Amino acid sequence: MKFKGFVLGMSVWLGMTAAHAQEPLYTPKAQQVAGNVYAIVGPLGQRSEANAGLNANYGFVVTAQGVILIDSGASAHGAALLEKAVKAVTPQPIRWVLNTGSQDHRWLGNDYFARRGAQVHAQAATVQTQKASAEQQLAGLQRFVGDQLKGTQPGYATVVHAGPEAAVTLGGVQFEWVQTSAHYPGDTLIHLPQSSVTFTGDLVYVDRLLGVLPQSNVRKASQAFERLRALSPRHVVPGHGQVTDMAQAQKETGNYCRFLIDNIGSAARNMDALSETLDKFAAPAQFKHLQNFDELHRANMNRVFVDFESNP
Ligand SMILES: [Zn+2]
Repeated sequence: MKFKGFVLGMSVWLGMTAAHAQEPLYTPKAQQVAGNVYAIVGPLGQRSEANAGLNANYGFVVTAQGVILIDSGASAHGAALLEKAVKAVTPQPIRWVLNTGSQDHRWLGNDYFARRGAQVHAQAATVQTQKASAEQQLAGLQRFVGDQLKGTQPGYATVVHAGPEAAVTLGGVQFEWVQTSAHYPGDTLIHLPQSSVTFTGDLVYVDRLLGVLPQSNVRKASQAFERLRALSPRHVVPGHGQVTDMAQAQKETGNYCRFLIDNIGSAARNMDALSETLDKFAAPAQFKHLQNFDELHRANMNRVFVDFESNP
């Protein structure tokens, strides 16, 4: 038994070393988007110790009264890394934290910033999903980031905006805060009209294929994308992928949602066979190049099919 434990321990250790060797340590770094608005663009792959679960995009706005941080990271450890990236830009403290959504890496750093005096804001529907999924998210994250989760407590917004749309001003910065419910129920986007920047949360993915989860709603996503088009931002900070513009967001997210609705949704409504439908639309040329396509596209189609089948 002792020997077996040793072998198991060795293979875990070797596995971890291999993973570390493949994946460079990710250090969050701010990039200026426009004026006093910054983005922190995370890696596109899965959560890991090397990226501290920060495989998503974050942002912040520097004001004379303090920093407004958009999304707080996947743990207290990840939150401290985001704080460092902010500190490299400004000595101002993080005074406000806004959550665009309820996926682990959007909010599990809330408690870290609240303990340092920040006020956490979110829409009511976002908090509802956070509360419903906190336990499961922490258990899931544990598998990817292990001991980095130590000291992480779920922390919820103390300033809750009713939604689905809210106009908020903090430190002289105006926000239009719009519910999308695209990836998770209660997901939002945050638009800054003064700088024409939108932080889309998990509504927009570029460079990689978006994921349709059992919690996702492709019809709501498509409607929210039209709302984003109406806002017409000059700069788009997507949930995942490089800072971009509406043209790329349209091509890689807006059009993909339409593709799923028009082809897979329609097939489900017509009561076509599931497997034939998935085969027929297996390799759309306009999306095949996106990272994670091979892992996600078929499952995405499957979920959309089932969604339209049960709710045509
Ligand atoms: Zn995400």
